[in-house]
Amino acid sequence: MGLVVQKFGGTSVADSEKIKNVANAVIKEKKLGNDVVVVVSAMGHTTDNLIKLSQEITVAPDSREMDVLLSTGELISMSLLAMAINETGYNAISLTGYQAGIKTENCHTHARILNINTSRIKRHLSENKIVVVAGFQGFCDDCDITTLGRGGSDTTAVALACALNADRCDIYSDVEGVYTADPRVIKTAKKLKEISYDEMLELARVGANVLHPRSVEAAKLNNMKMRVRSSFKLDDLGTLIIGVDDMELNKPVTGLACDTSQVRIVICDVEDKPGNAAKLFNLLAEHDLSVDMIIQSYARNMKNTNDIAFTISKSDMQKFNSIKDKINQIVNASNIFVDEDIVKVSIVGAGMIDRPGIAAKMFDTLASENINIKMISTSEIKISCLVEKKYSELAAKALCSVFNLDGAKVADVKGDLPL
Ligand code: ADP
Ligand code: ASP
Ligand code: MG
Repeated sequence: MGLVVQKFGGTSVADSEKIKNVANAVIKEKKLGNDVVVVVSAMGHTTDNLIKLSQEITVAPDSREMDVLLSTGELISMSLLAMAINETGYNAISLTGYQAGIKTENCHTHARILNINTSRIKRHLSENKIVVVAGFQGFCDDCDITTLGRGGSDTTAVALACALNADRCDIYSDVEGVYTADPRVIKTAKKLKEISYDEMLELARVGANVLHPRSVEAAKLNNMKMRVRSSFKLDDLGTLIIGVDDMELNKPVTGLACDTSQVRIVICDVEDKPGNAAKLFNLLAEHDLSVDMIIQSYARNMKNTNDIAFTISKSDMQKFNSIKDKINQIVNASNIFVDEDIVKVSIVGAGMIDRPGIAAKMFDTLASENINIKMISTSEIKISCLVEKKYSELAAKALCSVFNLDGAKVADVKGDLPL
């Protein structure tokens, strides 16, 4: 007998019929003789709706209260799922993040899990119960409720799987697995049979929201067997996320993602002297602003100044606006320019290591579509280009075609995984 952690996302628990469907998927696993811990997200668009509600009250909601509010979404789905499982004759109990012992750092709206006291979950498993845990939430000092950031239920699931030493963590979603690109946008994207932790981590970081990046990080760190599969096609294997050693790297690019959640900020005419960049980025860090791409232009005029451009998340714009004057004071910029009309298009592949020419091929492809590149960033296995938002689909399609990411549908692989 093994232990499997299953996670069901918002679309999988969007209404009562779907919750009953999830109950069947849980019982299917239980019938195989395994202990099952289930993590659920909030129903459908509940979290978005709660955010909208808060915005009707205030433009700057207190982050502690925001966490209390957002945590309620998962409480609804966990209790309904426990009822649905109980209805079938199996025994289930639902637990909040606090009851499940999920301790996080003292940080609201994007807290990291510090540790999990699994004793209560283990007790219920030993009573032959199916344990349903609210995703996306934990508790910090003073027993205050925290949340893990949008999409964070995936991370709850993997963290629990690691803490419980589970045999596998299955992430059930509204897609049949991980595709070479978002299958809702690129209809010809191919489903991947497997993808390495590193590639999946990069893809998730650059905008493939099928998995929360920190869930992949945790799975990689603990070598947790993880897969993405459909909650509506229970006999399909989905996509396995595995160590790179187990893979043959026969193609340079494995996947592509587009991210429209960022804003480009340009700080114009910053004096070209040591310490200015440090002052600027320290100020951003002090205000908990995460920066993604950064470019500093060469001094281009007699004034000996640079433009420093970087991207931040749109959801951080309010924080950024609150320190705009301070930025002006410390670096004496002539202007601060904000560009929201952008998309970051990224290609990812462990196979690009030591394969020259991939960046050139990406830039050539964009050029052939007359798409201007505003910023570029790279890692060992990723190249990202910032372009005008209107080119998002055109760029994605052209790159999918050039890097062989589209094509005929790959046949579903039926069956189940051994533990
Ligand atoms: P859940 O509610 O189950 O957590 P999400 O909406 O967070 O689901 O993630 C699933 C969505 O991720 C899909 O509907 C799909 O549009 C999107 N997606 C983006 N990139 C990919 C990709 N490469 N493969 C599969 N799905 C992707
Ligand atoms: N309900 C949360 C969200 O919508 C967490 C999740 O779905 O993973 O972001
Ligand atoms: Mg998700």
